[in-house]
Amino acid sequence: MSYVLYSARNSYERVEMISVERITRAFNEATREFRDSGEYQSLACGHASTEAAHEFIRNVFRTHYLSAHIVALCFAALPSNAAELLKENLLEEMGRSEKEKPHSALLVELVRGIGFPENEVDQLITDARKRVAIFCATRVPVATLRELCLSLLLETMSFEFMLSRCSSEIATALTNHYSIPKAALLWFELHSEVDIRHAEEGVTVIQDYLNFHQIPDPLFDQIAHFTLGDNLFVRHYFPPVSKQRTRSKIAKAQAQRIESITIYQLRIPFHQVFRHALHNREESDAVIVKVTGSDGRSGFGESLPRSYVTGETTETMVARIRDHLAPKLFRQTFAPGWETLEHLQALMPNWTRGDNGETTVVAWNAAFCAVELALLDWSLRVDHCALADLLPPARFEVVYSGVISADEPKDAAALAKRMARLGLHQVKVKVGTADDAARLEAVRKAVGDEVALRADANGAWTAHEAIEQLQRLEQFKLAAIEQPVPAKDLEGMKRVRTESGIPVMADESLVTLEQARQLIDLGACDYFNIRLSKNGGITGSLAIAKLAHEAGIKIQVGAQVGETGILSAAGRTFAAYLPALEFAEGSFGTWLLAEDLTYESVAFGLGGRAPLLKTRGLSVTVREDVLERLANVKHEVRR
Ligand SMILES: [Mg+2]
Repeated sequence: MSYVLYSARNSYERVEMISVERITRAFNEATREFRDSGEYQSLACGHASTEAAHEFIRNVFRTHYLSAHIVALCFAALPSNAAELLKENLLEEMGRSEKEKPHSALLVELVRGIGFPENEVDQLITDARKRVAIFCATRVPVATLRELCLSLLLETMSFEFMLSRCSSEIATALTNHYSIPKAALLWFELHSEVDIRHAEEGVTVIQDYLNFHQIPDPLFDQIAHFTLGDNLFVRHYFPPVSKQRTRSKIAKAQAQRIESITIYQLRIPFHQVFRHALHNREESDAVIVKVTGSDGRSGFGESLPRSYVTGETTETMVARIRDHLAPKLFRQTFAPGWETLEHLQALMPNWTRGDNGETTVVAWNAAFCAVELALLDWSLRVDHCALADLLPPARFEVVYSGVISADEPKDAAALAKRMARLGLHQVKVKVGTADDAARLEAVRKAVGDEVALRADANGAWTAHEAIEQLQRLEQFKLAAIEQPVPAKDLEGMKRVRTESGIPVMADESLVTLEQARQLIDLGACDYFNIRLSKNGGITGSLAIAKLAHEAGIKIQVGAQVGETGILSAAGRTFAAYLPALEFAEGSFGTWLLAEDLTYESVAFGLGGRAPLLKTRGLSVTVREDVLERLANVKHEVRR
């Protein structure tokens, strides 16, 4: 069948439309990939443990418990012919009578039949809701609603197709090898060969959709590839938590060495000067680390050293990586994915230890962060995983605050108005200069009373000054004051917390895990501002976040002014992972930088909202030509 399409180039083209065979081939290929996977083979042959079989059932539940919602969404998106076919499927999914129960009820019978306690059934339902919500809120790389719906249809119908070919085999294995009673397996029975009609109808539905929207081969192939690729069914039924266990057995054989480390010192101009009590900044001084493994693949990490925080300067940090960490790295081997993170957790205390007062370095956290992120990016790419697979998201998006530097009140007001127009709900203002009250007044007036305002003094005051100043600023209703006193004055911070009545956030005082403990033991603050570059990358930040969580300290995930898309992407995934997150900062991208390093834009959008990043590695692609151009110093070390 062929259709005439009107192309963007203003000419007519004859385009062959997708045949049923082509759709079936794509589904067959995805099904074959699933059946060939080690995970499926192990389950079907009875080599998996009973716990692994139960985990598989949990994931089947999480994937399909709310399937009716997804099918309903597909139904709503269909042209009339195909809609009739799918309606039948939808009604069956929803249950038409006492005898024909909703499929969700059959899944509940399945997990109860295995003997899962009621609280676990409740938890699985919560998981399923969360999964659908995350699915709906994850940005997909397609341009239009027409393409989005095709992706959705392909995913939904491919499950029907695969189940009609694998369900019986799975049900037999569950009964024979894992003692799951046959009566509990009705859901699998309904999706087995007896349901082959639905599977075939699914193919027809898709062909009808493709014809109606005149979607040509290349576009179909592209959407089918990213929807069904990377073993869609394994991703759902055997996600990384269970993969993690099997991976550890093969990790040694796959472990690789790092062959080279390249360090780039960048100079990227800002659109405008950023001022605070400790520093004025007109350009980004990000340091990028690229590691290349023995397989030829590379990963990128980033950090921005701050002498007044960790004690590292760009020069000392670069020297630390080149002369101290690189030789250590070359002696290690790194296994893919999760193994690398665990390996880094073991290395961090030794690799970041300060110099016992010989220099001003509190901890080599920025040096560690750049190296750690590069290693994670590389090793996750080797393993075809994203950082979000190691740190699964607890939310559907990350919402960022605006940050206003210590500008003249009229400039601060102009920026605040832009932020209000952009729909930001949270704004932080730098204070600690003579015109704090005028700046806050101008900002509060510009954003209105609904926006939550925080202030950051960057340690500019003594405790006494802070208490006095915060009384003067009371009328602006600050939600929190960040680092009111110098980093070492923890007693002063506690006094501000007790006497000002405004929640206090520790930033410059919080570099190491030990300092986090001191702040908690003293009751010095309400919030931690955790920043990857400051706190030792994902490894150091996770340890501090865990401590904060246990102690009831609220968390802001902060950022470095001038960070590129590499560090922003890692910060996004870290922020999305935390069970409780009060505020997030960063992801300014080209709001601040004249140019960013990544193909993907990581800058937040309307309302400060930004989607989760879940492709490969840190989930951004570095434009190496731009990196080379923006680097004013480059060091390369080889093994
Ligand atoms: Mg701060």
